[in-house]
Amino acid sequence: MVNVSTLLQEQHGRCYWCDKILTLGSSDLTKDLLIPEALDGTTCYDNLVASCRQCHVRFSNRRIKSKIAWLRNMLAIQKNPSH
Ligand SMILES: [Zn+2]
Repeated sequence: MVNVSTLLQEQHGRCYWCDKILTLGSSDLTKDLLIPEALDGTTCYDNLVASCRQCHVRFSNRRIKSKIAWLRNMLAIQKNPSH
């Protein structure tokens, strides 16, 4: 079982998706899968991220396709900050 504190440390104490600052032991802190299980994502360390509860809920209520679309959109924004 991957410890969420390790994940949080690697992400500099921030939610992987929205950059919100998270505190260890807070009920706002959860683990999320980078690649969904339905797309052969595993629960191993490389596929886990620390996430805030809002993002966790946001994605669990969405279909996988829209999660990927959202991720692509986020990456596009990061690559084109002036856009
Ligand atoms: Zn978040």
